[in-house]
Amino acid sequence: MKFSQNGLYIESYCKCANCGTLIYEASAEDQKAQKLQDGKTYCSAWCVDWKNQRDARHAAAAAVKAATT
Ligand SMILES: [Zn+2]
Repeated sequence: MKFSQNGLYIESYCKCANCGTLIYEASAEDQKAQKLQDGKTYCSAWCVDWKNQRDARHAAAAAVKAATT
């Protein structure tokens, strides 16, 4: 269990939608690093990019499969 900066337990936290890293109500710097996309929270721009690239790969694979069947 991690404590918030005011010494109280954190009542709510969420995980990065990509890598599952816990996102605490942390410092302003951390909050600035968080990214919101499609209503999901990501821990960093890196995870947003990774997720978008994965979606693109899946879309491309689906297109290839549709074209060959
Ligand atoms: Zn992440």
